[in-house]
Amino acid sequence: MFRLSQYMREVIAPTPLKPTRKPAAPVVIWNLIRRCNLTCKHCYTTSTDINFPNELSTSEIYHTMKDLQDFKVPVLILSGGEPLLHPDIFPISERAKKMGFYVALSSNGTLITEENIQTIADIGYQYIGVSLDGIGHVHDEFRQKQGSFAASMHGIELCLQQGIKVGIRYTLTQNNAKDFPSMLQLMDDHNIDKFYLSHLNYGGRGNRNRKDDAMFNITRDCMDLLFETAYDWLKAGKEREFVTGNNDADAVYFLQWVQKHHPHRAAHIKAKLEQWGGNASGVNVANIDNLGHVHPDTFWWHYSLGNVKQRPFSQIWQDISDPLMAGLKQTPRPLKGRCETCPEQKIWNGNTRVRAQQVFNDPLAEDPGCYVEF
Ligand code: SF4
Repeated sequence: MFRLSQYMREVIAPTPLKPTRKPAAPVVIWNLIRRCNLTCKHCYTTSTDINFPNELSTSEIYHTMKDLQDFKVPVLILSGGEPLLHPDIFPISERAKKMGFYVALSSNGTLITEENIQTIADIGYQYIGVSLDGIGHVHDEFRQKQGSFAASMHGIELCLQQGIKVGIRYTLTQNNAKDFPSMLQLMDDHNIDKFYLSHLNYGGRGNRNRKDDAMFNITRDCMDLLFETAYDWLKAGKEREFVTGNNDADAVYFLQWVQKHHPHRAAHIKAKLEQWGGNASGVNVANIDNLGHVHPDTFWWHYSLGNVKQRPFSQIWQDISDPLMAGLKQTPRPLKGRCETCPEQKIWNGNTRVRAQQVFNDPLAEDPGCYVEF
């Protein structure tokens, strides 16, 4: 994940380089349930509105949470499917909060209603991310459900009224890129705290729809607009957060933007980005799926590192006898092709690797989703 706002602040008001702190354990994105009331075209979990068998029971979830706490996992992002369909989502969330995790909810927003908003507010989620793929019918078409845009917006409004930090999660594709400026306008109009731009990755239904991946020039245009908006809003005192995901090459493209528009800051930004170190899949980001399988990130559902029903997460995560984990944890990663000779490998660390695996059947091959030109 590339925290654009953090680095944009460095363009406007640079701060000294400090020694990097290595997190003790990864952020865990946890798909508690695969069931969902929607069937989105790009869904990496290929969710639908049925119960999936053999999911972790609530007591297995609690058992794993204790292991995560002992392992010093700092953040749990509770996801799905639609996490609000989990019958015990609120007790699980409450317990996670009491155990000291930073707890975020990743939802499609349609099930946040007048009936449950007070409970949601009382739990005290530090952040709720709601997926929106465009305005009105564009979103409804992606989500394959009429009225889902209005329902998601209603959920966002309820969160905002309660003072809950809420963000839009937008997956950029060729078919919704034209709505991107309107999405930023929507964020401004509703004073939404955070915007997460996700690049389409090759997993689940996202894999089957990869012919729709935004063309590289469309991606570059959107990123330019994102950078300009983040810069202008920061200058105007609007403290909002922009992050991007699933393409750490964004950081390299950002450096090129800085070199072009703020060349006096380029060396500083480059040093800060190198310190960040790029992609963290398999290192500082982990995923547990609904069945208990552990993955290097959410787009590796076809590859299990082990299952928390059989082995604690803390053991699975440190086991580099698995060749994928060994490659992901290596510094620098033994990349191939264009990625091997990339002059900015220290910044982006070779990206999530899943696109390389899906296209070339080799997780260390060059990333076919890199849109940066040198
Ligand atoms: S992307 Fe999210 S909202 Fe859409 S079907 Fe998948 S889990 Fe449900």
